[in-house]
Amino acid sequence: MKDTISELHKQFCADLETILEATDFQRVRDQYFSRKNGQVTLLMKELGKLSPEERRDAGKLINDFKNFAEQELDSRQEELKRRAESLALERERVDISIPGHRPALGSPHPIVRARQRIEDIFVSMGYSVEDGPEIDTTFYNFDALNIPQGHPARESQDTFYINDELALRSQTSNVQIHAMQRRKPPFRVIAPGKVFRRDTPDPTHNPMFFQVEGLTVGKNITMGDLKGTLQTFLEKLFNRAITLRFRPSYFPFVEPGAETDFSCYLCASKNSGCRVCKGTGWIELGGSGMVHPNVLQACNIDPQEYSGFAFGFGIDRMTAMLYGIDDIRHFFAGDLRFLTQFR
Ligand SMILES: [Zn+2]
Repeated sequence: MKDTISELHKQFCADLETILEATDFQRVRDQYFSRKNGQVTLLMKELGKLSPEERRDAGKLINDFKNFAEQELDSRQEELKRRAESLALERERVDISIPGHRPALGSPHPIVRARQRIEDIFVSMGYSVEDGPEIDTTFYNFDALNIPQGHPARESQDTFYINDELALRSQTSNVQIHAMQRRKPPFRVIAPGKVFRRDTPDPTHNPMFFQVEGLTVGKNITMGDLKGTLQTFLEKLFNRAITLRFRPSYFPFVEPGAETDFSCYLCASKNSGCRVCKGTGWIELGGSGMVHPNVLQACNIDPQEYSGFAFGFGIDRMTAMLYGIDDIRHFFAGDLRFLTQFR
């Protein structure tokens, strides 16, 4: 009996080493402690066949082995549990050194960038930024701007009408009227925003585009103030000395009115066959002039006491110039390959 137990002890130690996971544990445990035919159970049955003395000694040996085996199995079970836990932790571990997935970042549209730059310059010159409706009545779109009945600007081939009374604004000038009604002179405002015209898209035209208008009303405002304001603005925008040129022109809402040109920022009026000014040395900015007395009157501002100047130009064209882009349709095509270049 003693030899049998000693053999069993050896066997058990070897079996213990085969336990690598929970199913091995159960197998070894059953092998020794199963109620039906576990090795320990079988030994207990053998005890009955022995003499009382032999039984006492053998009983003690079996008991010792049983305690030993149970203890070993318990500690093996503990170890399995610990290993399972640390495996689970290992699986759930987050490696913060692995490069992450970089989310696709958006960027401001080039026109938005240019508009912000333009706004910043005017704000630094004491202007406020005004916003106004993109759909407005004929009063704000035309009447108050001194645009007479029958003027081409009012034609439905130029303007998108919603009905007889409402139209998509074809210039941001409607905001000037709203601003003059809301404010008391003196004031300085700019109105950047979308405008709409029935144009066929080409490299320099689009049915929807962006414009900015400026308006200053106060006492003793002159063309000289207009010139100084635009020159200062352009010099800040292009960061170089600029010369301004007025060409007499007619716009119903200003008198006198002028087409405004500025000296080429690229070739500085050297007329060297430059691609920006086409060798003329001048770049067209837009229309400007002194606010027509009828417009001031329509907004209940006394033209005897106050005068003002107004100007407007296209933000899209300015953006194209700033970034050296030759076709403004790129701005509205929504092609990310184009748009993401402006970060
Ligand atoms: Zn030039």
